[in-house]
Amino acid sequence: MTWRVTVDTGLCISSGVCLATAPGRFRFDESQHSSPVQALTEPDDQVRDAAASCPVEAILLTYAGTGEPVPPPD
Ligand code: SF4
Repeated sequence: MTWRVTVDTGLCISSGVCLATAPGRFRFDESQHSSPVQALTEPDDQVRDAAASCPVEAILLTYAGTGEPVPPPD
């Protein structure tokens, strides 16, 4: 099931953890806030790890079809 990736730029503190955890899946915008390279993605462990690793929980993963949250990694 396709995931939707969103980053709350109001929360992002530009740590870069998501860029390091999921290379090529996140990038900094001109304000040095993270944003997903692709808003929609097939399930991806690195993206899920990045969301779980964000120190301020700024990354939200939901199922694109239902809007339900994607469970964190075990
Ligand atoms: S891990 Fe979180 S705080 Fe760090 S750059 Fe990514 S979204 Fe921003």
